Amino acid sequence: MTIGNHRPSQLVIDQSAIYDNIAAEKARLKSGTELFQVVKANGYGHGITQVARTAERAGASGFCVAILDEALTLRAAGFNEPILVLGITEPKYADLMASHHISATVGSVEWLESAASFLQTGHHLAVHLGLDTGMGRLGFQQPEELSVAVNYLETHPQFDFEGIFTHFATADSADTDYFKIQVARWQAFMAVLPKRPRYVHVSNSATSLWHEVCNGNMIRFGVAAYGLNPSGTELKEPYKLKPAMSLTSQLVFVKQLPKGYSVSYGATYTATEDEWVGTLPIGYADGYERRLQGFHVLVDGQLCEIIGRICMDQLMIRLPQKYAVGTKVTLVGADHGQSITLQDVADYCGTIHYEIACGFTARLPRVYV
Ligand code: PLP
Repeated sequence: MTIGNHRPSQLVIDQSAIYDNIAAEKARLKSGTELFQVVKANGYGHGITQVARTAERAGASGFCVAILDEALTLRAAGFNEPILVLGITEPKYADLMASHHISATVGSVEWLESAASFLQTGHHLAVHLGLDTGMGRLGFQQPEELSVAVNYLETHPQFDFEGIFTHFATADSADTDYFKIQVARWQAFMAVLPKRPRYVHVSNSATSLWHEVCNGNMIRFGVAAYGLNPSGTELKEPYKLKPAMSLTSQLVFVKQLPKGYSVSYGATYTATEDEWVGTLPIGYADGYERRLQGFHVLVDGQLCEIIGRICMDQLMIRLPQKYAVGTKVTLVGADHGQSITLQDVADYCGTIHYEIACGFTARLPRVYV
């Protein structure tokens, strides 16, 4: 996608915030527990390689991604740490993974059998067995199936049994009933494991923040590194998370809209008096959702309503007074003591901040400070 470098709308990524969030989490971990930074989906929209570089400096010793291409991006950028692909990769890529030392998630013996047929002689594929303790997404469902897979790995030296893991569905909730059910199932799986592999991991951000006793010897730290509370607002963060992402733009056109005149497609907004209206060069094609009509942005520390429908590339706001073309507008972030968070945007859209952050498209330049 073409990046809008000649347009004054950008995501500003505060690398020191990411660094501080990871360093704060590292400081809480029991000694010997490693932190793998989750950088899937372009580092939750923050930029995969830049986040990985900062995470490395802050003490991350590996990375998790969702798809093989993200792992290959990291390898091409020169990262040599362990990388685990959390999703299921097609077995036909087993040799490609092995040759780049990328670890695969495995949820069935059939996958191993198929992958074995693609591995060239002398190549070794590191695998992490995924256990489905209640997420219902992927992984072995019964301890007996796990035993079969472990036996298979013991007799097939082309695989390196590197890790075992599960994923909790409700670690970010105040209600811990379902979490406890998953922990019990996890323990039943562990009971049939003859020998622990190098990495035993169960923790996403929420698990490590609020159930750290469960942490194995590695955590898969995701959203909290970006300064976002995994629970939204349900649970209090054990330490201050620093949001890393801001979104800013500028007024590119300012006019007085006479009373009775309307704004944007469908003419859904009509001025009830003469009003100052500014136009911003950002729209839903940048991931600034059309549902945000009626939400607000900050100009000079003041909340200004988004009026009329949000267009693909532009949107209009009502200004309290005339402002010059070129005036800064904050869509996410702080301005003169006021702030709009990704959580505020998500609440307005009826979704979670994860979706907003990774929904910003490649057309928005990422500026690193
Ligand atoms: N582990 C797995 C298996 C995941 O799918 C994810 C993200 O969805 C994470 C860890 C990181 O989660 P979070 O961003 O909530 O820390």
